[in-house]
Amino acid sequence: MNDGITDYLSQNKQRFEADLFEWLRMASIGTDSAYDDQTRQAAVWLAEKFKNLGLETDLIETCGQPLVYAQTPPVAGGKTVLVYGHYDVQPPDPVELWTTPPFEPTVRNGNVYARGATDDKGQMITHLFGLEAYLADRGVDGSDGSLPVQVKYLIEGEEESGGAGLDAFLKGEYDKDIGMTVAEKLDADIVVISDCSQYAPGKPAITYGLKGIIYFELFVYGPNRDLHSGAFGGTVNNPANALAQMLTQIKDDQGRIQVPGFYDDVVELTEEERGQFGGLGFSDDDFKTQLGVEDLFGEAGFTTLERRWGRPTFDINGMWSGYQGEGAKTVLPAEAGAKFSFRLVPAQDPNKVHEALEKMLAEICPAGIRFELKNHHGAPGFVLPLGSPFMAAASRAIESGFGTAPVFVRSGGSIPVVNQFKHMLGIDTLLLGWGQDDDNLHSPDEKFSLADFHKGIHSSACLWGEIAKMD
Ligand SMILES: [Zn+2]
Repeated sequence: MNDGITDYLSQNKQRFEADLFEWLRMASIGTDSAYDDQTRQAAVWLAEKFKNLGLETDLIETCGQPLVYAQTPPVAGGKTVLVYGHYDVQPPDPVELWTTPPFEPTVRNGNVYARGATDDKGQMITHLFGLEAYLADRGVDGSDGSLPVQVKYLIEGEEESGGAGLDAFLKGEYDKDIGMTVAEKLDADIVVISDCSQYAPGKPAITYGLKGIIYFELFVYGPNRDLHSGAFGGTVNNPANALAQMLTQIKDDQGRIQVPGFYDDVVELTEEERGQFGGLGFSDDDFKTQLGVEDLFGEAGFTTLERRWGRPTFDINGMWSGYQGEGAKTVLPAEAGAKFSFRLVPAQDPNKVHEALEKMLAEICPAGIRFELKNHHGAPGFVLPLGSPFMAAASRAIESGFGTAPVFVRSGGSIPVVNQFKHMLGIDTLLLGWGQDDDNLHSPDEKFSLADFHKGIHSSACLWGEIAKMD
């Protein structure tokens, strides 16, 4: 890290905070039309910042909230980085549970408290200030000083409410306005997103894998009406019993999913990954206490973190049938239903899982019972190999910014936009989270550590050079 950038960062610390606080005061609740003016104001404010840095900047109108797009000039033979983030925030409700008002940023114990502090304004804007610091330092380090990569920014205003505008944009619905295809406009070697957490305080992380999902609803039908369980019990199959029987066959008591072929495409965790997870100091006992259970359960042969981050799972999300009211009613219900989902890992194909499950259910469906399987939505998982040179570059940048090398973690959740970039544009994503797990995103008293904010800016300022240097 050269001194020019470090000096610039320390001289501008207060101004970075003041700018962030000004942005946090705009209640950009993208999902609530009562806040449309403030949401647009937040987009315009960000676009102005990019313009002031000398970037070619557009406010792209969509069917929803505008997209803020900005880019530095292309670098012949150099890499291109696409930074994604969002300027919209979750509604602050319940407002009465906030210690200080959600749109009056307040500093306590080194944290700034405000809606959007960590999710995602505070994290996103580190990449604007990181670029600013790099550009301000031009020439100071004795090199020719120009930005060695092209940086593009795509910042949306509907991440918290479905992303309809971004989705339409990615599908090319606004091509005419930009004079090229979206794939050309957004073409990049890597996407960078800071909208997640570190592993723990003092343990910055790169999240290099996400699970996919496929979500189903199963309807089970029996007799043409609810029956008296005394008069008719023992004469026909009961849909509630049948549903329970079918569902319990999907996963065995060792936590192994029994759908034929389910594990065929699973990319197994490598020894290196298992070693990384094992070195994180995760405690099963603490986890049990946290969750209030005496025992943990999951697929045999894997640790808790391995199951959580790197193995597919099956869970029932809801079930219904028969009588739910007070007291007893001796009913043999005519129908039953359940919602359930599989969390998938690379390279499982949600469509293949759907087909195999449908076939299995047809085979195990008891006599006198009909079923219908509805597929709500599916998305594949994502993983960036640990050996990727982008991981090494990001790792060096984080080490410069945080003073310690990051750990490599995966997540059991899904981030739709990562799949959109991968499958619509063919670009992988680096997930660099500066937040903490207890930042209360989506809850009252959302916060972001100002120390981490500045370390994030520092890391971002180093990232451009590290990506340019990689082989
Ligand atoms: Zn977010």
